[in-house]
Amino acid sequence: MGRIRVLSDNVANQIAAGEVVERPASVVKELLENSLDAGAADIRIEAESGGRRLIRIADDGCGMLRDDAMLAFERHATSKLHDVEDLLSIATLGFRGEALPSIAAVSRLVLETRAREEDTGTRVEVAGGKMLKCEEAALAQGTVVTVRDLFFNVPARKKFLRTEQTELAHIASLATHYSLAHPDKTFRLAHGGNELLHVTPVAELRDRVYQVFGGQVLEELVDLGVQERELRLPPPYLPPSATAAAQMAAAQEEEGAEGEEANLRVFCLRGFVSRPQVQKTNRNSIFLFVNGRLIRDKLLLHAISSAYHNLMPPACYPFALLFLDCDAREIDVNVHPSKTEIRFRHGTFVHDLVRDTIRETLIESRPAPAFPMPASPPPQPAAQLPYSEFTQQLENERLAEAPSQLPPPPPNEELPVMTLRRLDFGRPLPQAPAPPAPEVRPLTSLPVPDTHGAFPAGASLDEPGTLASLRDLRPLGQLHESFIIAAGRDGLWIIDQHVAHERILFEQILGQSAAGRVEMQQLLMPILVELSPAQQVEYSRIAGELNHAGFETEPFGTRTIAVKAAPAGIAAGDIERLVFEVLEISEKELRRVSLDDLRRAIAASVACRAAIKINTRLDQSKMEWLLAALGETDCPMSCPHGRPVALRYSTRDILRGFHRI
Ligand code: ADP
Ligand code: MG
Repeated sequence: MGRIRVLSDNVANQIAAGEVVERPASVVKELLENSLDAGAADIRIEAESGGRRLIRIADDGCGMLRDDAMLAFERHATSKLHDVEDLLSIATLGFRGEALPSIAAVSRLVLETRAREEDTGTRVEVAGGKMLKCEEAALAQGTVVTVRDLFFNVPARKKFLRTEQTELAHIASLATHYSLAHPDKTFRLAHGGNELLHVTPVAELRDRVYQVFGGQVLEELVDLGVQERELRLPPPYLPPSATAAAQMAAAQEEEGAEGEEANLRVFCLRGFVSRPQVQKTNRNSIFLFVNGRLIRDKLLLHAISSAYHNLMPPACYPFALLFLDCDAREIDVNVHPSKTEIRFRHGTFVHDLVRDTIRETLIESRPAPAFPMPASPPPQPAAQLPYSEFTQQLENERLAEAPSQLPPPPPNEELPVMTLRRLDFGRPLPQAPAPPAPEVRPLTSLPVPDTHGAFPAGASLDEPGTLASLRDLRPLGQLHESFIIAAGRDGLWIIDQHVAHERILFEQILGQSAAGRVEMQQLLMPILVELSPAQQVEYSRIAGELNHAGFETEPFGTRTIAVKAAPAGIAAGDIERLVFEVLEISEKELRRVSLDDLRRAIAASVACRAAIKINTRLDQSKMEWLLAALGETDCPMSCPHGRPVALRYSTRDILRGFHRI
């Protein structure tokens, strides 16, 4: 007798469950997607013990017919797919027919459902993959799936579950982000009786973002609007051997209106991204939806990172909430059992659409960070949390070992003016007793020079500071000969002189480099630079690029080069170090990025070396020139390495700080 046996359904389901059901949140994801596919407008999620003890999802969708309710637990039973052709254009979230049998294989599951067209509903009970009961029941239209004791029969899996809080955070993250993808629907999430999320239908994505994250987060985000891009497909390939008739037919189809339509693909990108000063330490705050499906995708993540290239330090990530919609034929969703990965048919096009849209929007909005920049987003009540942050926070708490034992800061205590370290001007101050109306106002009579006239009218106080107003700033002086203090219509500004100059030079060098003539200085005596063997290899690879960037170098014996000219503004003592830096960049960058990125990296290095240093006294005219030149740059908000250029202490904050509003 042979040794190979076909596995029983039960074992096969358990194996599938391993791929589909990793943790409680995976159950929530599958059930949520089913509810959305069923056209539900109101979805309620309940969980207990981080989803281990109970997960229940109730919807008001189309429900299931009695026969279907039983069939749904068979593997590969689905109403969403009929033949292989359908696989090429999947418009529903589910299609594999694996979720219900997989979940039922590793839990005690009850399905209660009534279809619109039937008077009575059906109740099905399954435990560990065994059908226990199927009976008629009086039920409201829609579907309720209750999943208890997840992994009760797979102890090995159970061990891998994290703390209740972590599992809950994952569930909450999912619910939140699906709620963002469907602003027109009601979503509720409760854990052990506590409501964590409750959002009612709204018209716009922006309103839903506000409902979920609150106004503070919304302020830090930039709306991408709705960006549509068309992709014209090349005509179908016909082998040269094709008959003349077939070629004629293809040509006609191409010309006809229908052919036009068939070859035209429209991609639509919407969403929000954070301003560059919002910097996260991981990618958890990036949410990507393609045709309504929450996915993880390397290509899109890369596009986002490139959009922030030179605006943010390399190891930082933004918050992003992106919705890409396109023809279902443009993506292949059948890549992974949990359906979180997809493949684009025209990856480069999508990549560039995402990168360029984000980059252009960021540059246009030119936001200035409030003063001081919060190191991390202020904690918010759980119901309003961006859940990835919620997760992060929980993780941090776990790592920080019981921070709750620290005495909490006294609530509502009036903050003494001296505790500057704790002041967060971006947030409302704790309510202080209203100051008595001042009878004498000695300050008004003092001859304080006012650089911008009286306070602007109330409305303009709310204007977010943008670096568009840089040209309008009046420098008042320097702090520590390093930071320019300037007064503007919209408040007090502090500008890092080195970083500001770095940004100016960076864009200047890039411009010159594109035009093929970077400003350079001839050296009186060539500088000899000795290279290591590795550097020598790099040098021979990018000698042309070095020259393109404003150097003039030539080999001088083995492993030594002579530098005869260098980019303008570089001190002689810095040249050797700069050459090493560029070689190092090339070593790191050439392996994985484009020539364009390499040039940007070199320009950033040169700019950094040539820029005015801190601890340098600047006279009034230099400061004015610097601010004006900064205002002319495309991206005045951060240096090429991603550090912020300017901080703003808004007029509103100043007024609030002095209890004048
Ligand atoms: P898939 O979603 O891939 O089709 P599932 O195992 O998740 O597979 O579900 C099987 C079938 O059960 C679905 O195709 C659908 O017809 C039905 N179904 C599941 N959940 C619901 C629901 N909440 N409302 C209506 N029908 C549902
Ligand atoms: Mg499904």
